[in-house]
Amino acid sequence: DVLVVGSANADLVVAVDRRPGGGETVLGGDTVLSPGGKGANTAVAAGRLGADVALLGAVGDDPYGRLLLDSLRAAGVDTGLVRTSDRPTGIAYITVTPDGENAILVSPGANSSLEPADVEAVFDGVEVMVVSLEVPLPTVEHAVARAAENGVKVLLNLSPAAKLSPETLGRIDVLLVNEHEAAWLTGPGADFRKLLDLGPRAAVVTLGAAGAVVVEAGGSTEVASPKVDAVDTTGAGDAFAGALAASLADGADLVTAAKRAVRVAAFSVTRPGAQPSYPTAADLGE
Ligand code: ADP
Repeated sequence: DVLVVGSANADLVVAVDRRPGGGETVLGGDTVLSPGGKGANTAVAAGRLGADVALLGAVGDDPYGRLLLDSLRAAGVDTGLVRTSDRPTGIAYITVTPDGENAILVSPGANSSLEPADVEAVFDGVEVMVVSLEVPLPTVEHAVARAAENGVKVLLNLSPAAKLSPETLGRIDVLLVNEHEAAWLTGPGADFRKLLDLGPRAAVVTLGAAGAVVVEAGGSTEVASPKVDAVDTTGAGDAFAGALAASLADGADLVTAAKRAVRVAAFSVTRPGAQPSYPTAADLGE
């Protein structure tokens, strides 16, 4: 099974001609509401592919929380470990300008209430844990330590980028980053092999339309992405993470898992939204 530890947010997306400055009011388009958050997205991506997957997270007792739970369940995700917090569901306020650029403000709300104590006795039957960083860092570090102790493979999606302790980095089996996060970690130069010096057993760097690179002790392997017409890349990295975890839990090696993950992520960018854009195995022609 796959256990995802991470955020669940309602995405509120508004198209604007330009963003307001301080003290200014700008009128935008209609608000589009969709279920998001890196943890929930990752779990939904794995669930759509047929994986046995649970999300450990927190939502508020409000309509956005119910929207997120419905979306998770519709994808077959086990929500038994999603706590209902007395804080409001996390919200991402997203403005999109005509050049396609996103600017995102996240109000973590209930996600901030996820504590280290919530990540105890949750590893029964779990082969792979995926963690991303929209939840408190102490919770992430505790989850990684506990998973490693329990012999669970740890996939850490370092997004949004944050500084982890050397102990935590040393417990990671697969460090997943995009190009920006990789550069943030290793400095300029794009020598992705340097990622292994930080401690993880292996790393996967996603390169947008160019696919991904798998970095292992024995060498690096480039994995090309299918060519597609991208309409919305929101949540592509999370789709990749969910697909990678699903394949690893099935016993695939990392390069084989990455080859499937680029197909899943490339499919996701051809449709709008994050979770609504994720494919089933049938959508992939499998
Ligand atoms: P993030 O969304 O985290 O910034 P990337 O932009 O690297 O990460 O995208 C993650 C994955 O999504 C890529 O490895 C690739 O498989 C897929 N992808 C993203 N953009 C495109 C694109 N324009 N065409 C095809 N695949 C894409």
